[in-house]
Amino acid sequence: MKLLLVVLSVLVLSLAQTQTGTTTADIVFKNGNVYTANDRSPKAQAIAIKSDRIVYVGSNTGVQKFVGTNTRVVDLNGKTVMPGFTDAHQHLSGVGFREMTLNLEGTTSLEDLLAKVKTRVDQARPGEWVTGRGWIETHWSPPVFPTRWDLDKVSPNNPIILGRADGHGAVANSAAFKLARIDKSTPNPFGGEVSKDKQSGEPNGMLLDAAQGLVRDLVPATTRADDERAVVLGVNRDVALGWTQVQDAGGSYDDIEIFKKLYASGEIKLRIYKAVYGPGESANRLLKEGPIIGDFQNRLTVRTIKVVSDGALGSRGAALLAPYSDAPDTAGFLRVKTEELRPMLAEALRKGIQVETHAIGDKANRYIIDEYEMALNAVPRAQRKVAKPRWRVEHAQIVNPADIPRFAKLGVIPSMQPSHAIGDLFFAPSRLGLNRLKGAYAWESFIKSGVVVPGGTDAPVERGEPMIEFYAAVARKDQKGFSTKGWHPEEAVTREQALKMFTVWPAYAAFEEKLRGTIETGKLADLTILSADIMTVPELEILKTHCVMTVINGEIVFEGQ
Ligand SMILES: [Zn+2]
Repeated sequence: MKLLLVVLSVLVLSLAQTQTGTTTADIVFKNGNVYTANDRSPKAQAIAIKSDRIVYVGSNTGVQKFVGTNTRVVDLNGKTVMPGFTDAHQHLSGVGFREMTLNLEGTTSLEDLLAKVKTRVDQARPGEWVTGRGWIETHWSPPVFPTRWDLDKVSPNNPIILGRADGHGAVANSAAFKLARIDKSTPNPFGGEVSKDKQSGEPNGMLLDAAQGLVRDLVPATTRADDERAVVLGVNRDVALGWTQVQDAGGSYDDIEIFKKLYASGEIKLRIYKAVYGPGESANRLLKEGPIIGDFQNRLTVRTIKVVSDGALGSRGAALLAPYSDAPDTAGFLRVKTEELRPMLAEALRKGIQVETHAIGDKANRYIIDEYEMALNAVPRAQRKVAKPRWRVEHAQIVNPADIPRFAKLGVIPSMQPSHAIGDLFFAPSRLGLNRLKGAYAWESFIKSGVVVPGGTDAPVERGEPMIEFYAAVARKDQKGFSTKGWHPEEAVTREQALKMFTVWPAYAAFEEKLRGTIETGKLADLTILSADIMTVPELEILKTHCVMTVINGEIVFEGQ
C-alpha cells in the first residue's frame, strides 16, 4: 500500500512537470545506478541536463520527455553515478610539477631512490640542478631519512634537492649545501631546522620546513611556461580521476593569472576554489580587492586565505602539546607569527574573507582554534561582511579530544584527508604514543560533534586519487587491508558519510551547497561516473574502481573505459 502511494505521488509529480512545460535536454543519462547525496531522494536511474544545469533526476521513464531530436542519450548500462567529486585540499600545480620533475612517489628503498636519482643525474648538464619530490622513508628498512652523503655517491657535482612527499622536509646533497654555504655553524631559520649529525654536528642533508628555503632559493625559478604546463598537467590528471573541483590550498595571484588565461583559452575545465597564502602580500591583496566568486561559469572562486601554522608529523615539525614520544627533546614548532596573524584574522572577518589554516599537531590545532575564537569575539556579527564565515582548519589531524567540540561551537570546519591515516599508520603510533591516537584522524568524532568534514587528498603529499581516499575513509586500513594496534577503527566513516565528504560537504565548505554537491534539479551538472558501485562492493574492491566519465557544467570532459 505504502509503495503504491509513493508510485502514485511520483506519477502526480511528473504529470505536474509535463503540464508546466518540459525543456529539451542537451544530454540525458539513463540506466544509471545514481547516488544523489540528497537525503530526501538518495537514489535515481536517470538524469537530464540542459546547458550547465541538471533539469531532471528520476526514472528512465520520467526522463524520456526531456529527449528531443538533438539530445545526446547516454546509456550507462548500470554504471554508478555520483555527484561530481571535489578534492577539498589539493596543491594543483604541485601535482603537475610532480609529473614534470623527478617523481619519487612509490620509492621502495634508499637504493631505489639513489638509482632513480642517478638516472636523472646522468642526463643532466654539468652543474645543472636536479629536483624531485615524493619519496617517503616510512616503508623503507630501516625507515631513516636519506643523507647528503648518500646522494653524493650518485651526484658528487650536480646540486640536488628532493622533497619528502609531505613537502615539510627535503634532502639535499653536499654540492647544494656548498652553493648555499650551509655548514656546522648555520643557525636554524625561523620555523625550520637544518638537521645535524648527532655525532659530528655536521649538517646531514635534511632540511625541515622553512630551512628548505636555504637551498630552494638557489634553484633557478621555473618559467611562466613551466608553471602553465604544470597546471594543465595537474588538471588533466584530476579530471581523468573524476575530480570536478579542486580546492587549491594556497598560492599567489600569479597562479590566478595562469588559471584565468587557461580558462579563457578553454585549455582547462576543472573548477578551482583557490586560496592565497597569508599573512603577507597575497592575503593583503585579497583583503583589499575583495573576493572573486564564480568567474568563468562558476569555475573560479578566490575568497580564502591559507595560513600554515605548523609542520608535518613525519618530519616531527607538527607542533605538539607534549614532546614526541620517539624524540623527547622536541615538540615540533609553530610557524606563524601571532602579531601578524591576529590583525589579518580581524580584517578577514570585516571583509568577508574565509580563512583556512594548516594545523597538524594538537598544539597547532588548539592555537588556531584559540585565535579564531578571539577574532570571532573581537569582531561581532554586525561588523562582519559574512556573518557565518565558515573558517576551516586544514588537516585537523591530531586534536586534543577536549578541543573537538570547539569546532562545532565556533562553526569551524575540519577539512581532512583520509589517506593521511593510512600513510601515517606506520609512524604515527611511535611519534605520538597510543594515548594521543585518541583524537588523531578523528573523522567520526568530528561528524558526531556536529560539523561537516570535507575530504581532500593533499596531493602531491598523497597520491591524489578519489578511490584511495574513499577507501581510507571507510576502511581506515592500509591498501593491503592492514591496520595497527590502537588505530581506533571506530573513527572510520560510513559509505554514505564518505560520499558526502567528497561531494556536498566540500561544497558547503566553499559556500556552494546551493549550487553543487548533490544531484538535484537546478544544480550545476557535475557528475563522476564509476566502473563499480563503491557503496556496496567489498572494501578492497573500492581500490580497483576507476572513473569512466567526468562531467563538468554539463560537458563530458573525460571519457575512459
Ligand atoms: Zn596541503
